[in-house]
Amino acid sequence: MFAGADEYGVDVAIDEQAVERLLSVRPGDVDVADRLTFARNVFVPLTTACRYTCTYCTYYDVPGEASLLSPEEVREQCRVGADAGCTEALFTFGDEPDDRYTEIHETLAEWGFDSIHDYLYRACEIALEEGLLPHSNPGDLTESQFADLREVNASMGVMLETTADVDAHAGGRRKTPGQRLNTIRAAGRQGVPFTTGILVGIGEGWRDRAESLLAIRALHERYGHVQEVIVQNVVPNERSDFPKPDLATMRRVVAMARAALPPAVSVQVPPNLSPAADLVDCGIDDLGGVSPVTDDYINPAYEWPDLRELEAVADAGGVPLRERLPTYGRYLPDEIRPAGVEPTPEPDGREAWIPPAVRERIAAGDVHGRRLRAVARGDGPLAVRSD
Ligand code: SF4
Repeated sequence: MFAGADEYGVDVAIDEQAVERLLSVRPGDVDVADRLTFARNVFVPLTTACRYTCTYCTYYDVPGEASLLSPEEVREQCRVGADAGCTEALFTFGDEPDDRYTEIHETLAEWGFDSIHDYLYRACEIALEEGLLPHSNPGDLTESQFADLREVNASMGVMLETTADVDAHAGGRRKTPGQRLNTIRAAGRQGVPFTTGILVGIGEGWRDRAESLLAIRALHERYGHVQEVIVQNVVPNERSDFPKPDLATMRRVVAMARAALPPAVSVQVPPNLSPAADLVDCGIDDLGGVSPVTDDYINPAYEWPDLRELEAVADAGGVPLRERLPTYGRYLPDEIRPAGVEPTPEPDGREAWIPPAVRERIAAGDVHGRRLRAVARGDGPLAVRSD
């Protein structure tokens, strides 16, 4: 089974015949989407501290150099994003900073927070106050951490990356596929609309890609919570010389993702890293979160396309471009779900996928509530200022 899966009791069995079928999929075998969607976001890199040291990653900073945004900085960044017409505050950090990051822990304590996750909760509240919907990517979480953080998030995410045990994750502090699968399962058990994905080109093989996609499908079939799967290619950077996978590879793996996943689960490529226009006919239907106001802090050398460039991608595929919220329509409450979108049945033990604080934010009578409802209805892409 996958490395680390036993430790977490993750029981995801992969059917060998399904792997073989997926390995035979080519771009001509999949249906092309009838639209492309995207979300407008502001990146909020809460901290650049991370307990891991993945070899392809330029995001993390070592202890002593890592940054931590103050509550005031979080508020300012959210305010700028809301003013620029964003709907999503994308909170990123790597994974919970370990004991080496003494300064980060001391600062959090001075500010009255027990952990980075406590602080993330407050940061999400600030985003809601400023008119944005939080979407947090805080690395691996337990079920009880999801139970807390779901109260202030519209959706959340973590990249599976791969079920393979690759050297790129090597080192004394090594993240494992079992941990990531455990996180995706925990999100499902807590009824959190969830984004995950695979990273292509970090030393995994074709069979690993097929198994990774089938593992995501297996967990989605249990909990119904996976809203989108990102197919992201690695890119060369100052810490890594992994080559960017070629177009033929990306076309095949995107088609595999489309074939592996139920139609309701979106397949996304990041348009600043991938040749998106050449992947529309392989089954992508989403371009992810793009920001009019902040860099891609995970891949700072790769600029976001602007709205015109996104429209050019959609035009190249002969499909319309539509703006969406960070939470996909099928998880939204009846009153704002787009017409014709089938709701996903509520998660076990929960009244709704979206928590009250987020529903109230969307329902508010202010300019932000109006913008969020317009995007939810499918009236976008909106002009930058919708007031
Ligand atoms: S890829 Fe994520 S988990 Fe790995 S070092 Fe970078 S921030 Fe940390």
